[in-house]
Amino acid sequence: MQADVVIAGAGIVGSACAYFLARGGLRVCILDRGSIANGTSGSGEGNILLSDKLPGPEMDLAKLGRQLWEELAGALPDDFEFEPKGGIVVAETDRQLASLEGTIEGLRAAQVAVERLSPADLAREEPFLARDLPGGLYFPQDAQVQPMLACAALVKAAKSFGAVFLPQTELLKVELDGRGAVRAALTSAGRIGTPRLINAAGPWSTELAGLVGLDLPARPRKGHIIVTEPLPLLVRHKVFEAGYADTVNSGEADLQVASVVEATRSGTILLGSSRQLVGFDPAVDTQVLRAIARRAVRFFPVLAQVQALRAYAGFRSFTPDHLPIIGESKQVPGFFLNTGHEGAGIALGPVSARLLSQLILDQAPVMDPFPFRPERFSAIGEN
Ligand SMILES: Cc1cc2nc3c(=O)[nH]c(=O)nc-3n(C[C@H](O)[C@H](O)[C@H](O)COP(=O)(O)OP(=O)(O)OC[C@H]3O[C@@H](n4cnc5c(N)ncnc54)[C@H](O)[C@@H]3O)c2cc1C
Repeated sequence: MQADVVIAGAGIVGSACAYFLARGGLRVCILDRGSIANGTSGSGEGNILLSDKLPGPEMDLAKLGRQLWEELAGALPDDFEFEPKGGIVVAETDRQLASLEGTIEGLRAAQVAVERLSPADLAREEPFLARDLPGGLYFPQDAQVQPMLACAALVKAAKSFGAVFLPQTELLKVELDGRGAVRAALTSAGRIGTPRLINAAGPWSTELAGLVGLDLPARPRKGHIIVTEPLPLLVRHKVFEAGYADTVNSGEADLQVASVVEATRSGTILLGSSRQLVGFDPAVDTQVLRAIARRAVRFFPVLAQVQALRAYAGFRSFTPDHLPIIGESKQVPGFFLNTGHEGAGIALGPVSARLLSQLILDQAPVMDPFPFRPERFSAIGEN
């Protein structure tokens, strides 16, 4: 088999790469050792947030990403539950509220829409929130999707442009030519000749980079989610506590828990979030679940009466500077990286894929890819 590009990983990043590159006219082969959304894209939430980002390159990418999700919701034939429901960040103390309000000016300068919420506003917008909260901020651009449906919709659309999807197919080795450039993907289903390989393996991209001798400085950051029984609408927006953005942006290895609560179209409520650097231990830890449940009940006391349906854990790909890695390796021509999106890969996945596809197709990029260049880490290629 021969392809113009092979994509390893059919999570949100690989699925979106397949869509943009097939639409751009390349012969695309996307493979996954499992099925679609077999990894983190099937074990997280679907928040598309501007509210947890700091002004800078990640925010710039997130704004484009939010816009792109809206475009995709209109362009793809399959529904993936895109809901532009807005996000509410809730302070627990006056000090937290003052700190939140201190971010408003910077956010507005970065063209992020944000409004103050008084306790009365909170009660109106979220009637089931605890009544002792001093206020918060409203982010109308925050939105939500169902990530597994989105991956499936993107792969299906890619196939309509001629892409081939190989499920249950593992990338085992990468064949290089005499110059050290990519020549073929060696997979559990055989050899696929290709001059380009995209590593879209999420938290496993470090292993895949190792196949061509690159030392990717990304580590798995574990997170747990509790899913409640289906309920009438108790939570209208994406609601999270003020401390959430601190946990996202910190590099702490120890357990951090901050409440993130949102309802899904099926009526279940997703309760997050936790962050830990504990390697690839897939076990669901009841201590962590208890901590998540306690924080959720602190903000939505009504949840104390609610049954959990299930709980799961997943792994975010965590880079030292908290930015994704997008671009071609300078050491191994034809080896492309699109990974390291930590807890924002759903929000940023499609736009990262569009950016990489533009670099591959030699089109004008949606934004300057420089902040995301792989060679900013010396172990994956000096300038
Ligand atoms: C608890 C939790 C909550 C989250 N919530 C959000 C959120 O609300 N909003 C948000 O934006 N982000 C969120 N994230 C992060 C987001 O889910 C990830 O950033 C995103 O899913 C990463 O997508 P990906 O395509 O890079 O990787 P993945 O979805 O992990 O896909 C990688 C794929 O590569 C495959 N693979 C690995 N090795 C091989 C191989 N050798 N050969 C073939 N295939 C291989 C895997 O099977 C997998 O399917 C959350 C993450 C977690 C853990």
